[in-house]
Amino acid sequence: MTGYWWSERIGSGYTHGYEIELLLEERTPFQNMLIFENAQWGKGLILDGIVQVTEGDEFIYHEMMVHVPVLGRREATRSVLIIGGADGCVLREIQRYDSVREIVQVELDEAVLRACRKYLPELGGDWHDPRLELVIGDGAEYVRNAAESGRKFDLIILDSTDPIGPAIVLFEPPFHRDLAACLTDTGVIVRQSGLPVTMPRVMPFIRNRFLDVLPNVHVYLAPMPTYGGEIAFVTAAREEAGDISTPSSDYTGRYYNPAIHSASFVLPTWWQELIDNFQDDGQVPIETKTYF
Ligand code: SAM
Repeated sequence: MTGYWWSERIGSGYTHGYEIELLLEERTPFQNMLIFENAQWGKGLILDGIVQVTEGDEFIYHEMMVHVPVLGRREATRSVLIIGGADGCVLREIQRYDSVREIVQVELDEAVLRACRKYLPELGGDWHDPRLELVIGDGAEYVRNAAESGRKFDLIILDSTDPIGPAIVLFEPPFHRDLAACLTDTGVIVRQSGLPVTMPRVMPFIRNRFLDVLPNVHVYLAPMPTYGGEIAFVTAAREEAGDISTPSSDYTGRYYNPAIHSASFVLPTWWQELIDNFQDDGQVPIETKTYF
C-alpha cells in the first residue's frame, strides 16, 4: 500500500477517497492533471480535482455514450464529431463501426492527450486511424466555424469535463445553437450532463438548452461508481431522427446490451421532478466543487 490518500470532493461535505500511487502530476496550460493507480479501480485520470476515467469502470460510460445513439439511429452513422475525449475511449467505441467514414475529434489540451497515450494506452482507440482528423483546440470555436461553413455530422458527442474551467463555454446557450447547425437531418447529439445526485441543475439546464434549438430531446442514464452515482446523458435531434430508445441491433458490450439501451431511458421519479420543477435562469450551473 502506498499510504498516500487523495480525495475528490463530490458534493457538499461528501468525498471519495483513493489510496493512490501518483504516476503524474502536471499543471497544463488549461487544467491541473493527475494520473494515478489505485488497487480497486486501476489507473485513472483526474482533471481539476475531478475523476475523469478509471480502468475499472470507464467501459460503462463510454459504451453508453456511443452505442445508444449509434444503434438508436435508423441510418448508418458515417460522420462523427467528438468534443473532448482525450482518453480516447469514445474514439475506441466509435471505431467499432465500419459504417463510420470520418471522425473529427477536437480536444483542447494536448498535454492530456499525451499523458493518456503514455499512461493509459490500452484504453484509447487507434489515433492513427486514417478516418480520424484530430484537432487541438476549443470545441466551441470549432463548432462555431463548422456551423458557419455548413459542415454537418451524423453524430456529435460531447465528452467534456463538467462545467468548470475551459469546459464552461461548452455549456453556454449559443454553443447549443451552433451544435444544432452542424447536425444532419437524421443526426443525433449526445452529451454527458453530470450527476443529478450532486449537480442537480446541470441535466435539466442542458435539456432546456437543447430544447431551445431542437425538438427531439431525451435523457438517459448509466451508473458510474467512480463518479458517485448515475450520470445523465442528454440527446438532441430533429424529429426526422425518430425514437432512438430502441436498438437496431443485438450488439452486446461489457455493459451495453439491447435491454439496457431501452431501459436506460426510464428515469427515476426524482429525475423527472428535477426536470419538471427546474427554475431555469439561463445561467450555466457551475456546481462542481473541487479542491486539489
Ligand atoms: N469522460 C470524462 C467525463 O465524463 O468527465 C471526460 C473525458 S475527457 C478527459 C474530457 C476532456 O474535455 C478533457 O481532456 C478536456 O481537456 C476537454 N475539454 C475541456 N474543455 C474543452 C473545450 N472547450 N474544447 C475541447 N475540449 C475540452
